[in-house]
Amino acid sequence: MNISILGSTGSIGTQALEVVDDLKGIKDITILAITGNSNAELLEAQARRYKPQLAVVADETKYNDLKCRLADTDITVSTGEEGLCEAATLDKCDMVLSSIVGFAGLVPTMKAIEAGKDIALANKETLVTAGGLFCDAVKRHKVRLLPVDSEHSAIFQSLHSGNRGELKKILLTASGGPFYGKTQDELKNIKKEQALKHPNWSMGAKITIDSATLMNKGLEIIEAKWLFDVDFDDIEVLVHRESIIHSMVEFCDKSVIAQLSLPSMKHPIQYAFTYPQRLPSSDSSVSFADIASLTFGKPDEETFRCLALAKQAGRMGGVMPTVLNAANEVAVAAFLSGKIGFLQIAEYVENILSKYENRLNFSLEDIIEVDRSVRLEHKL
Ligand code: NAD
Ligand code: MG
Repeated sequence: MNISILGSTGSIGTQALEVVDDLKGIKDITILAITGNSNAELLEAQARRYKPQLAVVADETKYNDLKCRLADTDITVSTGEEGLCEAATLDKCDMVLSSIVGFAGLVPTMKAIEAGKDIALANKETLVTAGGLFCDAVKRHKVRLLPVDSEHSAIFQSLHSGNRGELKKILLTASGGPFYGKTQDELKNIKKEQALKHPNWSMGAKITIDSATLMNKGLEIIEAKWLFDVDFDDIEVLVHRESIIHSMVEFCDKSVIAQLSLPSMKHPIQYAFTYPQRLPSSDSSVSFADIASLTFGKPDEETFRCLALAKQAGRMGGVMPTVLNAANEVAVAAFLSGKIGFLQIAEYVENILSKYENRLNFSLEDIIEVDRSVRLEHKL
């Protein structure tokens, strides 16, 4: 199988390359293209090791650097959104791992679908912002869409136990993040370093902050709605601190089926690469006796406002999830650069949502325009 990895320098991208190494000799995967935003040094190291046809550095100011680094190889070097789209549509490519963070992943992922490539989807922001257009394109181009987000992979796996008509609801689990149980007052002076310390997962900065605000769970509700074609009322968020159960589904006979494993993104990445097969994994087994207990609770949407805001935008539909996502990307970047406090992330998102009038009919170009206008007109 030939794979292009969009976002190979990130947390998901680097773990995907480890999965490719782990599978060597059992299932051989060729890496056709790798892409990163600006880390030319890591792209060079990956290019020398995996020998792709194409290496793309999205940041145009880094193009010459990467080009020089790979001058002695026959690897093509490209840049910009055009380069990302080239990586997503290479002739020999069977599957694209969409693991760029944020809205920047949308256009290349749509191009991959239009070129008939199967999609292993980590980038939830694509489904949040363009779920309807995305799912129509998946159907029209008859490509396979395999979830990589751990909860959605768990739901996908659990759904194999029944048929769609038998599904009653989805139980979407949430670790609760580093600040579970805290009050608004205790969250006022949270520092970036505290928010970046997730109890169970090591991930990129943006999703780690989203996990701390619970925006991540809100985005995942919208992601699940599109992936599994369910109503918002049929998705329940359940706090499960141990991150062993990655999500569950309840069928009409009240039987609940779950997928369990240690918290490792290599599991859902590998399953997306090998589906419908299961192949041996380098991950450890769950030791239930050592874990001893699994706990469950309700999320606190009054303290963690981002979850409620995402639900609200999701239910409104139209371009509101795009507005929510853009506002969140702006606010998280501002928090990470020390410009705003932790609680201001939700305040900012709420404020921007209230400023936009919804539109129910829109094209991909309209969505790109909405995203751009939030970023330009509401800078922090
Ligand atoms: P990351 O920040 O570690 O990596 C992001 C990748 O995208 C990097 O390769 C980076 O260079 C690239 N990138 C960033 N901005 C770009 C731009 N403007 N243009 C082109 N490339 C750009 O992020 P991550 O944690 O790997 O997350 C990637 C995606 O997967 C996100 O959508 C996230 O929500 C989702 N996801 C991640 C995890 C996880 O465990 N890390 C779990 C579930 C879902
Ligand atoms: Mg997840």
